[in-house]
Amino acid sequence: MSALRELYQQVILDHNRNPKNFREMTDATGKIEGYNPLCGDHYTVFVRLEGDRIADISFTGAGCAISKASASVMSSVLRGKTREEAERLFQDFHGLVTGTQVSAEEIERMGKLAAFAGVSEFPARVKCASLPWHTLHAALDGNSQPITTE
Ligand code: ZN
Repeated sequence: MSALRELYQQVILDHNRNPKNFREMTDATGKIEGYNPLCGDHYTVFVRLEGDRIADISFTGAGCAISKASASVMSSVLRGKTREEAERLFQDFHGLVTGTQVSAEEIERMGKLAAFAGVSEFPARVKCASLPWHTLHAALDGNSQPITTE
């Protein structure tokens, strides 16, 4: 295992153990549940939009280390971003975990999100990593029906 890979592994373990923004939000403008039945991941993502900007984002729920760490990193990276910036990061992240985004520079630019680069080697875990993002995406679009990866 390379030093970089070990570092990435550590980021995921740390966020799983001490997830950021792991709380309910009482003044959310959007709230939606997301399920990944293949793994049993189940989260509620809360978001508070101020105009076009994501003023706050949080989540509750339970699931595997990859899904929880992904929700944690997502929530800390997207706070303060505009919807458009969030959309771009969503596309970048999706490319990263599905292995279609391969340039080392691109991966480096993604900061903490790059910790999930190794997920592309485990197709079964791609849904774990992307579940929080799909859930947030639906919440930003104003949906309230629970979403599922299946
Ligand atoms: Zn999972």
